[in-house]
Amino acid sequence: SQITLEELPGVGPATAEKLKEAGFNTIEAVAVASPSELATTAEIGESTAAKIINAARQAADIGGFETGDIVLERRKMVGKLTTGCMEFDEMMGGGIETQAITELYGEFGSGKTQLAHQFAVNVQMDREHGGLNGSVIIIDTENTFRPERIAQMVKGLSEKYGMELDPEEFLQNIHVARAYNSNHQILLVDSATDLANELREMGKPVRLLIVDSLMAHFRAEYVGRGTLADRQQKLNKHMHGLLRFGDLFNASVVVTNQVMAKPDAFFGDPTRPVGGHVVGHTATFRLYLRKSKGDKRIIRLVDSPNLPEGEAVIAVTTAGLTD
Ligand code: ADP
Ligand code: MG
Repeated sequence: SQITLEELPGVGPATAEKLKEAGFNTIEAVAVASPSELATTAEIGESTAAKIINAARQAADIGGFETGDIVLERRKMVGKLTTGCMEFDEMMGGGIETQAITELYGEFGSGKTQLAHQFAVNVQMDREHGGLNGSVIIIDTENTFRPERIAQMVKGLSEKYGMELDPEEFLQNIHVARAYNSNHQILLVDSATDLANELREMGKPVRLLIVDSLMAHFRAEYVGRGTLADRQQKLNKHMHGLLRFGDLFNASVVVTNQVMAKPDAFFGDPTRPVGGHVVGHTATFRLYLRKSKGDKRIIRLVDSPNLPEGEAVIAVTTAGLTD
């Protein structure tokens, strides 16, 4: 049933040639491109690009249908994972959701990795204490996972709740793998699926998958014109692998992301997350972290399917994140 690029409406032999030169070799590659990406790399108008992309999506038969009652059944299982910071948890309607990707983006030192560590601790708590009784898988691409930091945060929770929590036990429920390049990173999601199946059988269901950071390898490896299509296709596959993991295990998926300067921004914030529209459209919730005075950080909910935009202030302290 697969058709060729030339058979897409609006694509003549000349355009097909340009698309291929720019790396858009298959219907799938075109289907996951954005109009502006396609327009600039293949030197065509943006409205033409949009039409071609729509045709490619139909031809690639992306997505299937299920009835609303099935979706509702699955939604009933959605869990909320808290940070323990009241403003933030309120902004998120209780916490970050399972069966969803939450993207944390911001500059270096804005607190993305700290937030990820706090989630890795909190998810192990019971529901009365803001957790999901779950274990954690971390895909670490920048070598920033720190067990010592986990121990500090567990100690922080022990004091907060007046409970005796053992840092060692928390560390035993965190499964970390270093990703050495983007292909390895993608493959680790398959390994994570195998591991999560085992852990489920052992009564230690994985309720959190962290990728810190999502884009570092992709950005380093795909440089220059002609590589974008390939990168976005790989990234799209990766993002959908992550979404599938979240659905399959009723887990929260947290990814961290870098920012770049918007050269054409005259108004508003001049930074934006990297990864283009593939990341933008697959992340369910997008959170923008900014440094504020001292240990304070401002977190802005930028994109959500069911919550209003908002801002929350948190503090990064030795005991973990606090109000
Ligand atoms: P990024 O957004 O780059 O991942 P991080 O989450 O690594 O940023 O945040 C780093 C910041 O977190 C440090 O600059 C420091 O302010 C704070 N931080 C890290 N460890 C601790 C700690 N043990 N106690 C208090 N603050 C810490
Ligand atoms: Mg970091």
